[in-house]
Order: sequence, then C-alpha cells, then structure tokens
Amino acid sequence: MKKAISGANFEIPQEVSQVTTTLKGRGFEAYLIGGCVRDLFLGKKPKDWDVTTNAIPEKIIEAFDKTFYENNFGTVGVVNEVTTDETLKVIEVTPYRTESGYTDKRRPDSVSFSKHLEDDLKRRDFTINAIAYDCEESRTVDLYGGLTDLSKGLIRAVGNARERFAEDALRTLRAVRFHAEHGFEIEEATKKAIIEEAHGLASISKERIRDEFIKIIQSERPSEGLQLCRELGLLKYMLPDLEKGIGVEQGGAHTFDVWTHLLKTLEHSANKNMPLHVRLAALFHDIGKPDTRRGSAGDSATTGKKDYTFYGHEVVGARMTSKILKDLKFPRELAEKVVKLVRWHMFFSDTEQITNSAVRRMVANVGKDNVWDLMEVRACDRIGTGRPKESPYRLRKYHSMIEEVMRDPISVGMLKINGAKLMEVLKEAPGPRIGYILHALLEEVLEDPTKNTEESLEKMAQRLATLDTAELKKLGDAGKDKKEEEDEKVLSEIRKKHWVQ
Ligand code: ATP
Ligand code: MG
Repeated sequence: MKKAISGANFEIPQEVSQVTTTLKGRGFEAYLIGGCVRDLFLGKKPKDWDVTTNAIPEKIIEAFDKTFYENNFGTVGVVNEVTTDETLKVIEVTPYRTESGYTDKRRPDSVSFSKHLEDDLKRRDFTINAIAYDCEESRTVDLYGGLTDLSKGLIRAVGNARERFAEDALRTLRAVRFHAEHGFEIEEATKKAIIEEAHGLASISKERIRDEFIKIIQSERPSEGLQLCRELGLLKYMLPDLEKGIGVEQGGAHTFDVWTHLLKTLEHSANKNMPLHVRLAALFHDIGKPDTRRGSAGDSATTGKKDYTFYGHEVVGARMTSKILKDLKFPRELAEKVVKLVRWHMFFSDTEQITNSAVRRMVANVGKDNVWDLMEVRACDRIGTGRPKESPYRLRKYHSMIEEVMRDPISVGMLKINGAKLMEVLKEAPGPRIGYILHALLEEVLEDPTKNTEESLEKMAQRLATLDTAELKKLGDAGKDKKEEEDEKVLSEIRKKHWVQ
C-alpha cells in the first residue's frame, strides 16, 4: 500500500520540543525517534514520543525537574505534570545505545551507551522506525532509506534481515504488527528472513509475545495480521490451538472452515471498533470445534451435504481459551471475561420461541456485566458465518427481553424497612399481617417515593398496626395491585424504548 508522506515541517507539541530544546541548551544532541517520527510522516497522531540523545542518564535526569529511571536500558521518563494529554505525560528519553549479544534470545545481554546517533539507528528494527527527526531544525537523519520505504509502504529490516531476526525474534511479530496497523507490505528479503528465523519465537518471553499479539488484535486489520502470521510460520509459536481450525470444514449452513470463520468474526468485531475482550471472544468463540467435531461424511453420498456436530464445543472452547490467555499471561480479570463470552456464546435467541426464563438463565450464566458484550459477539458470529444480520425487529425484541429480565423488580424489597425490623418495632408476631403492612407501605412509597425513609415508614407502620386484620388485608391487596400496575408500566416503557410489543 502506498502512503502519502507529509512534508517535514511538523507542529511538535510544546511538551515534546521543550525536552529536546532543554537537552540542546545543555550542549547535547536530541532527536525524536521511532514510532512518533513514522507517525508524523504518515499524518497520524503519535501514541507516544521517544527522544534519543547523546546525554547519559545522569545528565538527562539533571536537566529536568521531574523524571523517573527504572529500567536497565537507560531510558529516563521525563514527567509533565500539567498536561491533560495522556500521550504527553511522560516523554521517554533514551541515550544512544548499542546492543551486544542476545544469548537468551530475549533481551540484549548488555546495552552500552554511545556518542553517535548512527549506532543507535543501526540497532533499530525496521527502516521506517529508524528515522531521527530534529524538531528545532525540521531535519531528518535517515540512514537506511526509511522515508522511501514509508512512501512505498514497505517494512524492511535495518541491515542484514536474517541476523536481525536471529538477534531478537520478536521483531518477526513486530513486522506483522506494523502490517496490521498500517497496511504496509513486508519487503521480500525481510519476509524470507522472517520465515527462516520464525523458530526463534519459541524462546521469546510470553509477555513480549502477548504485547505484540494485543497490538495486532487491536489494529485495524487483525485478521490479515493473523493470516500473515500463519503464512510466515509465526502462528504456531503464538496461538497453536488456532491453527487446528485450518481446513476443518463445518458442513451444514457453514461455508467456511473453522479458522476462516474465526478470522471473519474477529474482522467484524474490529470493523465495529469493539474493545479487546470482545475481539478476543470473537476470535476464540469456536476454538473448541476441531476437537469436538463428530462427522457423518457418509451423508454426503445421499444428500450431497456433510453434516457435522460440535456438541460441547463451547465448553471445550472456554477451557482452551482460558489456557491460551493464561499461557500468554493476560490479566486474570480480562481472561475471565473472554472465557465467559466463549462459554456462553451458544444461546438460543429466537424471540418467537423463547420465554423470559430462558433469557433470565442466559443473563445469569454470562453475568449482567457481560450480557451486551455477548450480544456483540453473537452479531459478529452471524456476519462471520456469512449469515445476514439478525432482523432488526427480532434483535430489538431480544434486547428488550434482556432489559425486562434485568430490571430491578418492583417489590417490598425496595422499602427501606424489612419484615424483621417491622416485627421488632411493632412487636407483631410473624404472620400475614406483616405482609399486608409491607404491601400497604409499598403502595404509599410508589405514590410518593420521598416517604421511603426508615423513619417515615416506621411511623406509617405504627398507624397501620392499629387496624384490624380485615382492613389491613384490604390495604395490603391494594398495594399488591398497585405494584403489578407499576411493574407493567416499567415493562411497557422498556418495550416502547425498543419499539417492540
Ligand atoms: P507504537 O507507535 O506502537 O509505539 P513504535 O514503533 O513506537 O510503535 P515501540 O515498541 O514503542 O514501537 O518501540 C519504539 C522504537 O524502538 C521502535 O520504533 C524501534 O525503533 C525501536 N524498537 C522497539 N522494539 C525493538 C526491537 N525489538 N528491536 C529493535 N528495535 C526496536
Ligand atoms: Mg512507541
């Protein structure tokens, strides 16, 4: 994909230029570098700003009021406490670095600081990430043809591709990530080297793989990214279980194999700009299918169709999803949400056939907090199957039913006083009179919600307790009628809101 490159005269936020100007004022060099320069040339808003300099960490710390320094790689965070823009709160300043040795294939054994910008550019992954930009002079230092590659939309390794991937195999995944984020192609020699060095991913830490995986999933083209991972032989080091779905036909109404269906479902969730957990659930919802397929390919002889069943695939899939996310060290809370969505994605939603209690069960299973996400996964699943969207009426009806069963029912439970307290205050024995009093109180509160305080309820109860049982029953029954009437009103409002009956 070709990209338009803007001119090199950018408006740099003052919070950033203040950092480079300060360093220069102390006699150092300072350049913007990496993703922010790439994004400036692409006309995108940088997600964060990185500065590279010939100052060593101590000198950087000295130059600013508030900094933090907490890694082994020389990076100093320069803190801006005034700005409200998240991307400007911390500007990362790193001395020019050279790296040596990658014995564990994870992180450089040691980093040493250098006086020369060239050394720093040489250690960077791709040419498009190795452009330095001097904001005061609007000047670029582009030793590897990064600007040309940017204009062509090409991801090309800096230096000898094979050596660079052998040094740090995470770069193979990063190449795919930049493809997914920017739609760039990977240059041929770089691609070949990725395939040759993919095996190095086996010894990369799960946390680093997870971070790139998340960026691929959150990008505009997550499915293309995963497809590319498969082509380049990276997928088996990241999501081996997903590969099992390749070529697994589903028969029946399904045109796609499991793998393609999952990618299409994910793609739809990205098109709808869904959050990470919904995208992950979309990707994994049928991951249990390959292991649960029972087939009667025999039917194909008579009907021309293959029929398969996948009983329990959502249970198996939930277990697999849980393991995948645990292996990749996802935070527990996020993983639990995704697992729930996968576990309960098989719910029956034909509004002409289901009852409220089926909907209530669905809500109880997946949890109130996850219901609407589950509906999103369902919508993506349909599109990913090649089925049309749910008919608008049925969808509205189902949404209405969910809201109806989730509403807080009108009941004596809403009162700021309960039966036990009433018996204590009124010195009444347990029996129907307490129920009548509660319902009579509910009627009062429905008429005038300001009466729902312990004090006023107690006073009213004391008056009611003087009545004989027959009179009290009449009031209690009236309260029950009123409760039903009000409940109907709430229901009819929910239905009106969804334009259904
Ligand atoms: P983003 O906009 O998503 O932050 P980025 O290119 O800034 O993208 P980062 O992971 O923030 O990506 O890395 C910042 C820069 O550091 C990169 O642009 C690249 O120059 C360099 N870099 C990061 N990781 C590596 C690596 N594994 N090998 C070599 N250089 C790297
Ligand atoms: Mg960055």
